[in-house]
Amino acid sequence: MPRYVYDFDEPAEGGRELLGGKGIGLAEMTQLGVPVPAGFTITTDACRTYMASGGELPEGLEEEIDEHLARLEETTGKRFGDPDDPLLVSVRSGAAVSMPGMMDTILNVGLNDEAAAGGERFVLDSYRRLIQMYGETVEGIDARRFEDALDEDLPAMIEAYKAIYEDETGRFFPQDAREQLGRAVRAVFESWNTPRAQAYRRYNKIPDDLGTAVNVVQMVFGNKGVESGTGVAFTRDPSTGEAGLYGEFLADAQGEDVVAGIRTPEPVEAMRERLPDAFDELVETIRRLEEHYKEMQDIEFTVEDGKLFLLQTRSAKRTAAAALKAAVDMVDEGLITREEAVVRIDPGQLDQLLHPRIDPDSSYEVAATGLNASPGAASGGIVFDADTAEERGKDGSAVILVRWETTPDDIHGMIAAQGILTAHGGMTSHAAVVARGMGKPCVAGCEALSLDAAAKTASLNGQKLNEGDVITIDGGTGEVIIGEVPLIAPEINEDLETVLGWADDLRRLKVRANADTPEDAAKAREFGAQGIGLCRTEHMFMAEDRLPVVREMIMASDEDERRAALDKLLPHQQADFEGIFEAMAGLPVTIRLLDPPLHEFLPSLEEAKDDRMRARIRALQEANPMLGTRGCRLGLQFPEIYEMQVRAIILAAAAVHERTGDAPLVEIMHPLVAFQEELRRLRELTIEAASNEAEAEYLVGTMIELPRACVRADEIAEEADFFSFGTNDLTQTALGFSRDDAEGKFLTHYLQDGVLERNPFETLDQSGVGDLMRIAVERGRQTKQDLKLGICGEHGGEPDSVRFCHTLGLDYVSCSPYRVPLARLAAAQAALSEAGVEAVSVGG
Ligand code: ADP
Ligand code: MG
Ligand code: MG
Repeated sequence: MPRYVYDFDEPAEGGRELLGGKGIGLAEMTQLGVPVPAGFTITTDACRTYMASGGELPEGLEEEIDEHLARLEETTGKRFGDPDDPLLVSVRSGAAVSMPGMMDTILNVGLNDEAAAGGERFVLDSYRRLIQMYGETVEGIDARRFEDALDEDLPAMIEAYKAIYEDETGRFFPQDAREQLGRAVRAVFESWNTPRAQAYRRYNKIPDDLGTAVNVVQMVFGNKGVESGTGVAFTRDPSTGEAGLYGEFLADAQGEDVVAGIRTPEPVEAMRERLPDAFDELVETIRRLEEHYKEMQDIEFTVEDGKLFLLQTRSAKRTAAAALKAAVDMVDEGLITREEAVVRIDPGQLDQLLHPRIDPDSSYEVAATGLNASPGAASGGIVFDADTAEERGKDGSAVILVRWETTPDDIHGMIAAQGILTAHGGMTSHAAVVARGMGKPCVAGCEALSLDAAAKTASLNGQKLNEGDVITIDGGTGEVIIGEVPLIAPEINEDLETVLGWADDLRRLKVRANADTPEDAAKAREFGAQGIGLCRTEHMFMAEDRLPVVREMIMASDEDERRAALDKLLPHQQADFEGIFEAMAGLPVTIRLLDPPLHEFLPSLEEAKDDRMRARIRALQEANPMLGTRGCRLGLQFPEIYEMQVRAIILAAAAVHERTGDAPLVEIMHPLVAFQEELRRLRELTIEAASNEAEAEYLVGTMIELPRACVRADEIAEEADFFSFGTNDLTQTALGFSRDDAEGKFLTHYLQDGVLERNPFETLDQSGVGDLMRIAVERGRQTKQDLKLGICGEHGGEPDSVRFCHTLGLDYVSCSPYRVPLARLAAAQAALSEAGVEAVSVGG
């Protein structure tokens, strides 16, 4: 029979998967000799068995719990259910993957009327907390019923709470300790499947079948008076990464109070004077924990009558800036290597640093300031509840969720919002922790904000606000501004520069950017791009001063007229290319010839100015433009368009060469090729058009974006110097999904229903589209060993897809300029992972 329960001081195989993050942390701290209350862990395996059986405790579990309870009684010298000074325990959830506050925990299990009768104040306080937490968690009683009955007089409050319990359940509050424990364990198992836990898992892509462990921990009491208290602390500042103890402390309180933001805590430094021994021990303990885990920790602790206990440790959720600073400092401190530093930064999180902030040159009036809980700035219409945030967010409006304090039930609204503003709570309040994890701007504890949620109005420093009014928040400074303020993108800071420098030394994949203008090209270079992987030319056709000429070209009645119009476009195109070549001097630039169907350049039928244009629009109309006359099909039907583009490229290269002395590294790319014959003709056209202009070196290649091109890559490679995977179209054509008809429609449904786990337009469908790529790589290189290979679809900037491209053996990935830093890091991690260096995750 499988074993389901382990004491904290018993070695268990199976690690965090089996014991959960909290359980493994408690076991490891116990092993390290850190002061931790005694207790045991019921495994995630037990929870999975419970769920699979539809809610039956696994066979033998009750007996096993009894045995470990007996052992706990022995260790603590107290008896569970004793009417006199009984053993009390907490029953705590804790999954393998950290889901802060999403599941349930019940404190003070084991108390009853008899044991509480005539007890000290903290005993009575503990009893009313038990009735409340048990009532909420086991019986599903609405928390507000208890909150409404808060009272100074503890015995009266206990009576009131018991009455609520009886009123809601029709039963007396259970007096049998073992019954309390049994039902608490079940309730924690059940809390794995609450709607908020499910929403959190969906957002964080955590599988639904992991289950939670249950930790049964001897209670220690922070609510025993001024020599006692409870707190949370980080080994470094989670916002900035600055070294040194950082946290919050509440005297005379029990755990939940800090996290729930019910009372506003003091900085942990406040302990130094009042509880000097416990403070010193705390500083020493977290130093040891960091040394052990070699990773920034986030801990929960309680002081009972001056004695310190640790109740939890986990790797700290932190901002990208803090993660970078801590990693760089730890390398300096000799705690970790450069490789370890590179591996532990989450590339997805870098996005945060490259998020907008308020333009410092703009002038604006700060209406109020709160805590700078999670960096980045955002503007949006205010909403006062999570459901409305979700509704409006779905409609595509920018919203700021404004709350007194968020709770785990607000998670769907936080996901939908651009930013979060709360009136209450500290840097470790729910809103702050969750927002940092999501990389969303958050200003917390803004005391100048008062809310009337029922009336859907707020007052900010006396100024009245209604739902929908626009505000701007800056989570990096804590500023709140009424109205919209211009935002700017930030630059790369020193720590990021350092880590990216290390990453560059470690990666094999090159990183290029997709850029259509000299400005984007310059930005890309600043972010470390090693060339342009995709320069689209259609935007150049769309510019206001050119569109009339482009329309002239499309409306032309014969080739001569068309050529005349194209001749007028040529100098514009040439100037565009010159700008880009200069910005990218010394680095390769891949230019894709015109891709979209011609009707995209014409007005709509209603806006057409005459019959001739209407006729032309009708003639060009297509039932399915994505699969119509576009890409190389257009180029073969109207060769003069591509000829003009090639001439413009070659003339630009020659001009820049002459001006700067550097010959641009030009790569001319033909889109949407399916057949070798298409590319053979286009290659001929390219060489012919180029040779009429100037002596120039350039490569000719193709985008690989059709399944046929992947499987016939050996033939196509005969005509190509390079391939660039256009995975946006390749995903559309391989899956038969029209992106415009999928997102927000059936694909959204698929993702909600779990038919698909991830959006294939965001994360490469590795087993399908990825396999086509693998075939193309193999067959292409069979023909040409030195065929240059890259990817220029949006997947080129998504960390998992970048790793996949590394394993495929591509030469480079290309992505939007702002994602270049992220791709550099992901590429280094791919190389390290191949060499066996992986990130470790600790705690929970
Ligand atoms: P969460 O995962 O929501 O943080 P926890 O299980 O960690 O839930 O517990 C909730 C709060 O109760 C925390 O502040 C924790 O420190 C406190 N707590 C849990 N067990 C005990 C205990 N045995 N003695 C004192 N406080 C406890
Ligand atoms: Mg906790
Ligand atoms: Mg395409």
